[in-house]
Amino acid sequence: TTATETSVFEVLESEVRSYCRGWPAVFDRAQGSRMYDEDGRAWLDFFAGAGALNYGHNNKVLKRALLDYLERDGVTHGLDMSTTAKRAFLETFRDLILEPRGLDHKVMFPGPTGANAVEAALKLARKVTGRETVVSFTNAFHGMSLGALAVTGNAFKRAGAGIPLVHSVPMPFDNYLDGRVPDFLWFERLLGDRGSGLNRPAAVIVETIQGEGGVNVARPEWLRGLADLCRRWDMLLIVDDVQMGCGRTGPFFSFEEAGIIPDIVTLSKSISGYGLPMALVLLRPELDVWEPGEHNGTFRGNNPAFVTATAALDTYWADSGTEKQTLARGERIEAALSEIVAEYGPLAAYRGRGLVWGLRLPDTGHASRACVRAFELGLLVETSGPESEVVKLLPPLTTTPDELDEGLLVLGRAVAETA
Ligand code: PMP
Repeated sequence: TTATETSVFEVLESEVRSYCRGWPAVFDRAQGSRMYDEDGRAWLDFFAGAGALNYGHNNKVLKRALLDYLERDGVTHGLDMSTTAKRAFLETFRDLILEPRGLDHKVMFPGPTGANAVEAALKLARKVTGRETVVSFTNAFHGMSLGALAVTGNAFKRAGAGIPLVHSVPMPFDNYLDGRVPDFLWFERLLGDRGSGLNRPAAVIVETIQGEGGVNVARPEWLRGLADLCRRWDMLLIVDDVQMGCGRTGPFFSFEEAGIIPDIVTLSKSISGYGLPMALVLLRPELDVWEPGEHNGTFRGNNPAFVTATAALDTYWADSGTEKQTLARGERIEAALSEIVAEYGPLAAYRGRGLVWGLRLPDTGHASRACVRAFELGLLVETSGPESEVVKLLPPLTTTPDELDEGLLVLGRAVAETA
């Protein structure tokens, strides 16, 4: 980049965000699975707003719904007032998502972001149980606000808080101990040990697949074991589906495959479908204990987001087509990754489900170099994992088979050229 370009990036963002440095382009337009810079150069986007764009950029159906709503002067901001847009979303969500899955959870809007949803979930679990501790897992990521950070198992992210936070000993996530220690033995020992500091936790918060943590996939039986442990020890089970929900892993909720029913679920990222900030918390009806005003916020009622969210549910979740298509496209990715992995020794690995995949490249810096090279070759992908050792793929669910093949080809080349 030239000096002038560099100064543009400095004007744009401070050091706290890295995307503008890793991806030195000034983006201007985006459609479907592609983003374009101001000179019209195109990139395939397999990052998709870290999972916030499951239906692609400027999805045409959602855009139409939004434009129609704005054109008729629909309410854009309504705190938590009742609006037709909110009612339509709640009815559609109940009819297409909750009822067919046998869920009787109530829906609350905690504020615009994933971290807002996590904060509300933690706060609610503490109020309901009258207990303090919340158990989280190694390499978990739940957000950047203090409560969410307190259950985030990444030392670098936690260091951003400057001071030690509570809940600083996360439990091992599935397979962390390589099967050498029987599942949950350690956890249960600590629960029973009055000196451990766990003190009958209020809740356990878990991602079914750790997105930021390196695409670590929990086995369905592990999740069932966890749900069982929660029941036996009277802890609420919170599934953080902020990144893996809304169809990313195939079914609408990522926990469906395991057949578990969490007490509390957090959703955000792709729930609006259009990249508009929106989050929600699902809670079992008996957990609805807040008095009016005990949890409020200015942006709980993002009505344009309700409009696109409703259109997304109607378009993609009226039947099982989206789930089937996602699983089929995932098989395509899996086949391509298995070929790439074969070249890089026994420590290289791939894992994922649906349209979330991680490619672990064990040589230090290889995954980051591969992402930089992919950018030069026209593909947006990011790393994840505690050592940034995993290339994470999150293409929009609407990515066509041809686009998938194109992106996977670029990825293979980028990995090979940076080995
Ligand atoms: N939970 C999970 C599982 C996430 O992946 C993220 C975001 N990467 C968050 C919470 C926080 O969401 P937000 O960035 O919208 O606050």
